This record gives sequence, C-alpha cells and structure tokens, in this order.
Amino acid sequence: MSTIFSKIIAKEIPADIVYEDDLVLAFRDIAPQAPTHILIIPKREIASANDVRADDEAALGRLFTVAAKIAAEDGIAEDGYRLIVNCNAHGGQEVFHLHMHLLGGRSLGPMLARK
Ligand code: AMP
Repeated sequence: MSTIFSKIIAKEIPADIVYEDDLVLAFRDIAPQAPTHILIIPKREIASANDVRADDEAALGRLFTVAAKIAAEDGIAEDGYRLIVNCNAHGGQEVFHLHMHLLGGRSLGPMLARK
C-alpha cells in the first residue's frame, strides 16, 4: 500500500526537497526533532528494512552518500549527526516507505532514552 512519501516523489503534495536523483529523494521532515532533520528515501517503495532486496543495494548505498553530502552542505559534518532507520512497531516506524533520518545541528545525547 502506498504512503504519503509516494505522493512526495510524484510531486503530488509539497515537500521541502533538498536533493533528488534517479534513485533517491531527500526532503526536510515536517516535524523536525533537531535543527537539521532530513528524510532520505529510495524512490522504489520499500515498505521497511525487512523488505530490502539485493537489487536495492545501489539505492540503499546512495542513502549514505547523500546523507554525507547534505551533512556537509548543512555544516553539521564536523560536529556530527545521527542516521536512523526505524523498522516496524518496536522500531517506532510510522511511515511504511523505508527512510533514513538525518539528524543534527545539536548534541543528540545517548542513542536511546534511558529508562
Ligand atoms: P518514522 O517514525 O521513522 O516512520 O518517521 C516518519 C517521519 O516522517 C516522521 O519524522 C514524520 O514527521 C515524517 N513525515 C510524515 N509526513 C511527512 C511529510 N508529509 N513531509 C515530511 N515529513 C513527514
């Protein structure tokens, strides 16, 4: 089942797009959790990390090269940032089109909230 991200890829709904090529699209998160919060998505609709195929490797590798490019452009590369891919319920995934979060611009603290 298609998600809102397919509509963003098709330009049917607006998004603040920061990068696009043949394999991936990157746009600013609508509810940013940090000064830089960008979603980088493969154009093929992969529902979750459970659904990746060998022929997705080029697109999935591109997520990292685009993240590094955007981090440099946003001036957060040297201080650092966090890349997150959530999967299914325990991972907190809300949109079932695989996406990489690029978060930075402030100290993000420990990787997981301490209980
Ligand atoms: P996740 O919990 O990993 O599935 O993250 C989904 C993310 O998509 C959340 O951070 C949302 O704020 C973001 N999001 C949902 N709808 C949109 C949209 N139309 N444009 C940009 N970001 C969105």
